[in-house]
Amino acid sequence: MTTIKTNLEKYQFLKQILPIHKYNHNKFDMAIWCPFCNNPNQHKLKMILNIDKGVYHCWVCNSKGTSIPWVIKKIASQYYDKSLEYFPNKNQNQNDNEWKDILNGLSDNPQVDVITEYVVLPTGFELCALNLNSKDPDIRDVSNYLLKRGCSEHKMWMLRFGVSKDSNYHRMLIIPSFNSNGDLNFYTCRKIDASTFDGFKYKNCEVSKKNIIFNELLINWQLPLTLVEGPLDLLKTNDNATCLLGSSLPKDGALFKKIVENKTPIVLALDHDAHKKAIKIAQDLMYYDIEVKMMDTSIAKDVGDMDINTFKEYYNLACKIEQEDLLLNKIQVI
Ligand SMILES: [Zn+2]
Repeated sequence: MTTIKTNLEKYQFLKQILPIHKYNHNKFDMAIWCPFCNNPNQHKLKMILNIDKGVYHCWVCNSKGTSIPWVIKKIASQYYDKSLEYFPNKNQNQNDNEWKDILNGLSDNPQVDVITEYVVLPTGFELCALNLNSKDPDIRDVSNYLLKRGCSEHKMWMLRFGVSKDSNYHRMLIIPSFNSNGDLNFYTCRKIDASTFDGFKYKNCEVSKKNIIFNELLINWQLPLTLVEGPLDLLKTNDNATCLLGSSLPKDGALFKKIVENKTPIVLALDHDAHKKAIKIAQDLMYYDIEVKMMDTSIAKDVGDMDINTFKEYYNLACKIEQEDLLLNKIQVI
């Protein structure tokens, strides 16, 4: 006997089959890749499934219907039978006006109401820590790149650096990030042969950086948290640290909100050339009564270039910023 499934059960079923999607839980809408358009880019999420109404509609090719299992059959036919338990085929023919009503209720721009974005690791992902002696010279070079940058064995395991034999990730270091539940929420890839002068050093996965906290899984919000710019700067920091994936901390971003919520003391360790931006971050945080220390990083061009002991030394010397310092510093950088 088939029981009627709740919307949450339906969503949980679909998200296993469709790992790349966006979900708007207020409208029970999922934005997915459209199998009818068959766009080669699997991240083009132009088809909306409404799991409450059991309908689908693609904003690009205008495919629409009342049988979500029909869509599943196109994408992953092995789940078709199972999908009928969640979405019994209605075989309903809607007239134009009824469709108009349904489509009016759907998200027309899946980019706007993003609640959850699922990310999948590049195919063939393997940990660098297990590939230091790989027979494949390219794979070995990626793992050794970390050692050359002064990565300790501890950090290599802790930050779960990886590598893939997939040609799209050739000679790239894959740096994954996990949310507080341990789900992958982001990854970035560093081309190991790219110099500072190359335009393209990093390749990010397609999620909004503002909505993620890099490796939140590793953060203890009750302890002072070190903020650096890029993920490779984390090779040199203490363990309770995260990176901005840039040099700003947007006030409407997930990281800023979480710091304020937990009143987490912050140690800012941005590169020396981002001093002005560090002051802006300090100012924004102090407005919310967050204790901020600023670390002097002028000894190296890049925090990632410091050695681990030098980082520790300067970390211990970092002083708490007072409002007056901020004013003085502001004058110095203008
Ligand atoms: Zn389509």
